Amino acid sequence: MGEARIRAALAESTDTGQVAVGPGVLASVVEVVERSAGAEPVQVVADATTWRVAGEQVQRRLEAAGHATVAPYRFPPGSFVPATYDNVERVRDALAGHRAVPVAVGSGSLNDIVKRAAHEAGRPYLVVATAASMDGYTAFGAAITRDGYKQTMTCPAPRAVVADLEVLAGAPPPMTASGYGDLLGKVTAGADWLVADALEVEPVDPTAWELAQGPLREAVGRPAELAGGDRDALGRLVEGLVLSGLAMQAHASSRPASGAEHQFSHLWEMEGLGHDRRPPLSHGFKVGVGTVAIAALYERLLERDLAALDPEALARAWPGPEAAEAAVRSAHTTPGLDDAAVTETLAKHADPETLARRLALLADRWPDLRDRLQAQLLPATELRELLAAAGAPTRPSELGLTRGAFRDTYRRAQMIRRRYTVLDLAAETGTLDELVGELFAPGGFWAA
Ligand SMILES: [Zn+2]
Repeated sequence: MGEARIRAALAESTDTGQVAVGPGVLASVVEVVERSAGAEPVQVVADATTWRVAGEQVQRRLEAAGHATVAPYRFPPGSFVPATYDNVERVRDALAGHRAVPVAVGSGSLNDIVKRAAHEAGRPYLVVATAASMDGYTAFGAAITRDGYKQTMTCPAPRAVVADLEVLAGAPPPMTASGYGDLLGKVTAGADWLVADALEVEPVDPTAWELAQGPLREAVGRPAELAGGDRDALGRLVEGLVLSGLAMQAHASSRPASGAEHQFSHLWEMEGLGHDRRPPLSHGFKVGVGTVAIAALYERLLERDLAALDPEALARAWPGPEAAEAAVRSAHTTPGLDDAAVTETLAKHADPETLARRLALLADRWPDLRDRLQAQLLPATELRELLAAAGAPTRPSELGLTRGAFRDTYRRAQMIRRRYTVLDLAAETGTLDELVGELFAPGGFWAA
């Protein structure tokens, strides 16, 4: 079932030709390399931990099969290897000394470093996964911190991914819980896409939708078993993450896998939340809390009759671009992020005529859209229980956020990406501040 889905997805993907998922698939790494890179020499890139858990075995198997390799690139032991541009340059400079195809052995950061370094060196790459911690293995683009500012740098997805469930099962449990949080975010990401589709901002692409949403309910359905080490539950999670990355490849955009819950995560990420922890606060943990936060917002929004709004009055009260920029600058003072947020906000800022038309469309389609959103979403309390069962944080305080900073995220996150989400719908209907107020008032979801 899972394999068939992945095979079908690979037919739609532009960069990735092979994905091997299953217990013991590391044994097939030489065949995967040969199908993806032919007889080209390869170079294993690993850190001390990933070398121990899989890198050394990959190297040994390649040597035993007589496949040409150059000496592995190994980050020095005893330190966490962050996805910084310095590290991209280190790997790229190492690649410059030969013509071998890099094989990243690692998870989020290492995969991103090698993905970008290989692109800068003009080469494809392959990845051997060491943790089911996020959906970036099969996605294009790398999240890299440069000059203190985290950005998504363009680069193709890997030619091949090897995800041995025996290796992934040995990863620290918080890494698997993090992958679960990233996957659970597709619940709200899907809802946001339905909103953008209904308002004719961004149509749903049925192929990419099915890749990301088709396996989702099954993949997130057994968090306690996942936390307990159940291989089948882990396999489902990995399948969901792989297909989500392939959905982004097929759609040439992160839309199928990323909505407002990721905007929460990206904002916290760009402001360095939890970067001082070792290991740093993970992407999936932030996405998980963001997912609960957005689902709670949707619940309040769905109680409103948005068909009863006055589009003309709302359009008259809508701020112009200067006022919108001023609001962004007063909400964002982090260097780099401030200018980026202005650019992103203005890219989606509607003029009054566009807004009036969109709100009229909303009034017309609201009953149907509301039904579709209700079918797509899960209750925020249920999402919280699922995350907790998987071993992931569910509350902002667990991420190190104050109540005030968390509350402010609802408005501030809306400004940092041009992607249209429920945060934009709430802002454009003039309901965002009221809805957030309800969430934090006595009896609200985030009541003290
Ligand atoms: Zn993600």
